[in-house]
Amino acid sequence: MTTIYLDNQATTPLAPEALDAMLPLLKDNFGNPHSSHVMGRQAAAAVAVAREQVASLLPRNGRVIFTSSATEAINLAMGVVRNMVSQGRDQIAILDTEHAAVRDTALYYGTLGFETSRIPVDPQGLVVLEHLEACFGSKTALVGAMLVNNEIGVIQPVEQIAEMAHRAGALMLCDAVQGFGRIDMPQQADLIALSGHKIYGPKGIGALWVRDDIEVPPLIHGGGQEQGGRSGTLSPALCAGLGVAAKLCAERREEDRVHIASLADKARSLFGDWTVNGSLDQRYPGNLNIRRDGLDVGRLMSDVRGVAFSAGSACASGSGRPSHVLAALGLQPTQIKSSIRLGFGRYTSIEEVEQAAHLINQAAEKYLS
Ligand code: PLP
Repeated sequence: MTTIYLDNQATTPLAPEALDAMLPLLKDNFGNPHSSHVMGRQAAAAVAVAREQVASLLPRNGRVIFTSSATEAINLAMGVVRNMVSQGRDQIAILDTEHAAVRDTALYYGTLGFETSRIPVDPQGLVVLEHLEACFGSKTALVGAMLVNNEIGVIQPVEQIAEMAHRAGALMLCDAVQGFGRIDMPQQADLIALSGHKIYGPKGIGALWVRDDIEVPPLIHGGGQEQGGRSGTLSPALCAGLGVAAKLCAERREEDRVHIASLADKARSLFGDWTVNGSLDQRYPGNLNIRRDGLDVGRLMSDVRGVAFSAGSACASGSGRPSHVLAALGLQPTQIKSSIRLGFGRYTSIEEVEQAAHLINQAAEKYLS
């Protein structure tokens, strides 16, 4: 039986164009991009093209550092707080609904003596700008706010958050993993993290965009291959895969947007008996997080094996932790347990959405009757 894949927030299938760009760099053109001979220079040229392809979707006044993942990019970015202690800034403020990559890194800095605080969201999952100013002060070093939430798809007002962070003298990190290539990047952020495998690129590569005037202390020490900072030999194949995936996102942005909006409309009509978690207006439509009171999602998922979908975020369910995002919206544990996340992407068809809705609704009716 073929599986209908509706988990595009966990990961996306590799675009054929990205695979085509990667294969020659895994086969004949295997040079080390840090070698000075011809093969090395060819590999380095592939990395340079990829860097520009990624950079063209980001603000122009910064640099792109390739990493192994968005998680590494976020860990690297958050190291900036080390440079700010001497200015009396030792606080990190993050949204209550951040991904574990930001959340747990902030917790780690807590063990090093940094004070960490969580900025609450409203029942729609959105930050309340009027309350935000009170969350930052003269000791705030870094504010972390994600662009599109991975669990519920809501879009945070990150430009305004960045402006407010700057007014308090703090830097702003935007986890743009779920928004990169789909919606505009925040021009005011100081640090932006992204991931290859969320944009139809390969796994094992991410990037951190850093505003020109900001120094980021190295996280991984060694040969300093990546711009004298991040050490370790770059994979030209992974860089090229990410670069082509980013270029495709830019070229197909409107086409992808229209396609995903039509899938979302169809899904909303087919799941009319379910309640949407999170804002309906400020939302990336490829993410539909819905609940139906009385359901136990664990059972539902084992009944509907032909559809790959998620209970909460893939990361939270992988770790067995209940969703902190749905809890932050004020949902009760039973409501959290009755929530599912459906993620549509470029390669999802309307027929797949119809078939999946049929299977999920049929299983839910059986369970509730
Ligand atoms: N941030 C968000 C919002 C995510 O959705 C994810 C992946 O689930 C990450 C960070 C981590 O990305 P990566 O898998 O590249 O480490």
